[in-house]
This record gives sequence, structure tokens and C-alpha cells, in this order.
Amino acid sequence: MPAFNIIALGCGGGPDEHNLSCYLFKPHEQSWDDGIFALDAGSSIGALNKLLAEQPELFDMKQITGSVHVSHSASEVYSWIRNFIITHAHLDHVNGMVLSAGSMGGPSRSVIGAHRCLQDIESIFSGRIWPKLASWSEADSLPLTLTPLPDNDQYTSIASSVSIRMMPISHGQHEGLGTYWSSAFFIRHDPSAREFLFFGDVEPDSIAAEPRNRNVWRSAAEKIPEQLNTIFIECSWPSGRADDRLYGHLSPEHLCAELTVLACEVSGYRKRALVSLEHDYEREESHRARKRQRKRLVSGPPSLHGALNGVRVYVTHCKEDNQGDHQQPIHKVIADQVQRLVDAQQLDVEIIAVEQGMHILTVAILPLPFTQGARDVYIIIGRSDRTGI
Ligand SMILES: [Zn+2]
Ligand SMILES: [Zn+2]
Repeated sequence: MPAFNIIALGCGGGPDEHNLSCYLFKPHEQSWDDGIFALDAGSSIGALNKLLAEQPELFDMKQITGSVHVSHSASEVYSWIRNFIITHAHLDHVNGMVLSAGSMGGPSRSVIGAHRCLQDIESIFSGRIWPKLASWSEADSLPLTLTPLPDNDQYTSIASSVSIRMMPISHGQHEGLGTYWSSAFFIRHDPSAREFLFFGDVEPDSIAAEPRNRNVWRSAAEKIPEQLNTIFIECSWPSGRADDRLYGHLSPEHLCAELTVLACEVSGYRKRALVSLEHDYEREESHRARKRQRKRLVSGPPSLHGALNGVRVYVTHCKEDNQGDHQQPIHKVIADQVQRLVDAQQLDVEIIAVEQGMHILTVAILPLPFTQGARDVYIIIGRSDRTGI
């Protein structure tokens, strides 16, 4: 059963204002004009104008309805957004929403995120930086309604078939303020129970004052790959960046280390699951069969080989190569560097550079036990011709 359509409206890490973090998605069974979810809101109308000039049928509904193609303007498509889900309030993640807030028309949009993130957004709409266009109460009928998410292990329903779980992650230190918090979101398509994981800007656990990434990996591990095999995570810098110049972001070396932690969590979870399975067998099987089973299942050190088989990691938020240090586009350079590092670790994970305008359709197949190598089908429409099974 298909889950989500995701379009990368903007995926850069700055400073190009036409390519800032913003991902538009919808449940596959719905049309774009039924209501779009914006995951971060860095770029908006300008980026949409650019994408629609290159791909006029990007938001065409005919693949869903069979209807005749109708062109839609950028402002029309943007007006279909009903929920903004914001990882943190840095300008490169909220700029488009702020600029558009007064001109979208229609009903109030929910701005969903951590309470502290929404407080930061509220401060932008204080009347000094920008007019008061946001409120904590829908009854105020302002264009944006601030809707905080709990940071517990619960999923919150935000629409008829979409639920979301927020987890705090560290995005560096701010002098005098301590840790600056960003968010990771598990976004679930309720009818199929399929999820994808989306990280806001994030620093490595290995250098964070308050490391939280492992909590996210641990929560993800038990869902990989049947329920969850799509991860969006930033890698702002290319290889070789010194730790004291990361400014709350990841480099390929650190992203590989983080994915290795995920692989350890997956491997550990599977081992515990297999031991538990083995205990079930114990009640039913003969002593000899039991001994054989135990030897096969629990002997030897945990292997990470293939732990992330079937997982695709979409690399986001690459900082522009303004000095022209690289011949390839920087997002391809960084994704290649990450791929080489994870290949050396035999993690069996696919690294994909997100490109602006990329349309990702996640299609779930009937889940198989992970021991049989369950995989999903992913079709990426648009600028990439990658199709994998
Ligand atoms: Zn940031
Ligand atoms: Zn950012």
C-alpha cells in the first residue's frame, strides 16, 4: 500500500533563498489540494515558481484521479498547505512561512512543533519583526495557529491519516543559552502504519553537550525496515571539516558514525527479538533442537553487516559551495563521501543526495520477517531515475 508522496521544495543549507529546507508531502491516497503538509518552511513561493517552470505537472492530480492535467500557480499550490511542521525556528527553516503568512488566504494553518520552537516563532510575529499573524488559539482567527507537540513517546494525530512523534535533538551550543534544540519527527501514515524519519539540523552525539541522537536511533531500530526505511538527515559539510567548525551540524564522518549507532541498535534489537523467539521455541522443541537453535542465534559478536539493508538515507541541508571548491554539486559530493564511508562499514545502506524538485513516492509491500530480507519498493519521480526494489 503506498504511503506518502514527498516533494523537496527546498533542500539546501543556505544561503540560496530559493533552496531552503522545505518538504511538501501528502498521504498517497489523497490529492495535493486535499491539504499539503509542509515539513519545515524555508523556501516558499519563489522556489515553487522555479519548480513549476521546470516541472509544470509536479502537483498534477491525474496520477491519482485520472483527470485531465490542470496547471496550478505557485501561490495556489502554496495555499493548499494546511499544516507547517517545523523542526526549529532558524530562519532557513521558517523564512517562507513567515513571508507568506499574511497572503495565503483561507483558513488558519497549524504550525506544529516543539513548544520552545513555537515560542521562538511567536517572537518573530511580535509586531516588530513581522506583524502579529500567529496565535496560540485558533479562536483568534489569525493566519497561523501555534500547535505544540509533546516530546514524549506518543504519536499525535494531526490529520485524518497522519500522526507524528517529535523527539528533541541537539543543534549546537549558544553562548549563555546552553543547548539549542532542534527536532526529529517520526511521521506515520496511519492506514498503512508506514513511517519516515525526518531530522532537523543536528550535531553529532559525540560532541554534543546533551546528546540525544541515540534516543532517536533506538526508537527507529525496532521499526527497520518493515515500518520505517526512509530517513532524511542533514549533512551540512563535506568531509574533513574540523569539529570546532561544525556549528551544530554533521559532516560525512559524523553521519557515518551516527548510522553505525543506528546499525548497532538495529542489530541489538534483532538479537533480542531472536533470543525471545528462541525462548518460545524452547517450550515446544526437543532439547537437541533447542541447543542447535541457541548456538545459531546467539553465538558470536553482533554483526553490523547488512543491519541497515533496505534503508535509504536522504542527505539534506548541504551548505552551498560558494568558493567553488568542488567540481560536482555539493550535495552529490557529500552524499558520495557518506556512501563510501558507510560502505567501508558494510552497513548496506543506500545514501541519496536530495535534489530540489525530487519527488519521492514511498510504496510499501507486504512486510516479510526481517530474517528473510524484507525490502520496500521506492520510486523516485522527477529529476532522478532511480528505481529500486
Ligand atoms: Zn538550524
Ligand atoms: Zn538550517
